Amino acid sequence: MNKKENISQLAVQGVQKLIPYKAGKPVDELERELGLTEIVKLASNENALGPGSKAIAAIKNTLPELSRYPDGNGFALKMALAKKLNVSIEQITLGNGSNEILELLARTFLTPELEVVFSQHALAVYPLVTQAVGAKACIAPALNYGHDLLAMLALVNKKTRLVFIANPNNPTGTLLSSIDLKEFIAALPETVICVLDEAYFEFVDDANKSATIAWLNEYPNLIITRTFSKAYGLAGLRVGYSLSSLEVADLLNRVRQPFNNNALALTAAEAALSDNEYLAETIAMNNKGMNQLTSAFKEMGLSWIPSYGNFVSVNLKQDAMPIYEALLKKGVIVRPVANYEMSDFLRISIGTEQENQFFIKAFKDVLTEI
Ligand SMILES: *Cc1c(COP(=O)(O)O)cnc(C)c1O
Repeated sequence: MNKKENISQLAVQGVQKLIPYKAGKPVDELERELGLTEIVKLASNENALGPGSKAIAAIKNTLPELSRYPDGNGFALKMALAKKLNVSIEQITLGNGSNEILELLARTFLTPELEVVFSQHALAVYPLVTQAVGAKACIAPALNYGHDLLAMLALVNKKTRLVFIANPNNPTGTLLSSIDLKEFIAALPETVICVLDEAYFEFVDDANKSATIAWLNEYPNLIITRTFSKAYGLAGLRVGYSLSSLEVADLLNRVRQPFNNNALALTAAEAALSDNEYLAETIAMNNKGMNQLTSAFKEMGLSWIPSYGNFVSVNLKQDAMPIYEALLKKGVIVRPVANYEMSDFLRISIGTEQENQFFIKAFKDVLTEI
């Protein structure tokens, strides 16, 4: 064995076997590789409108302050969130993206002796954070691409400490009803922490939204995570948060880095939160774009999973990889989801009307050429 192999084997078991998260291909990378000038990226569920004007103004105002450390408690952003969501600031934990919160939860609550339950086709970050701390992932088969809550409940035992549920789910876009979800949480033992990942919460229409924040008083083992990366258009800044019991928030605060959110992220997120116009524009664009894409799929005779998020997974009824590659050559980046056991699907993020049109044209061309 050579010296380099020895070094790798010093890592803890979970990390040795870890396969890194595969992100959507960056636009710059495709530009470099193929020398294309017109590229449309619909691969990472980002907000196609770009950041809102209020967020940009807040960032500009904060630039002269960058020689100072940020507020490690994120007081102003927490105050704004508390006011908007009607929670106390002690219930809020800020993260470097909601991803960081998921990782903090794993580090806070898991050991190699404990188990985590989540669904097939769930976010790739759940197995990652579970494995990194050496805990065991118990995966419930999906039901019609969505969560099978009974199957998940059946996996819960004395060793279970965390359950991850994304609602809406990514990459399927499926949504659980308020009644089913609440029943599930009520059925969990108090020793099992239920992480409700609401990264796409803002895209769900009012009639289908679950009033999950109100449940926090009833269930101290419930944690809700949300993000500024999707509807609020700040994926590049990395801001997410969780809402929980005071006890859980206190624990997460002990493990997080003292300055886990940078100053620009804090100020931009606070401004974005008050930008109702931008949010409304985002939702309107998303609804229109969802119609635009699904109408095209219908016309092409393709089926898709009805989605409550800002993306839709389309069924190609064949290996999606060659179609993904052919789309890249035409300057369109979408997301293959074979790593989610959905090798016949591509996940398309909703873009602007022009971006969607650019994709639809390329997609139709590719499917006739293949
Ligand atoms: C995008 C996404 C997140 C958010 O990640 P950030 O770290 O906040 O950017 C969390 N959960 C799901 C299911 C997502 O799709």
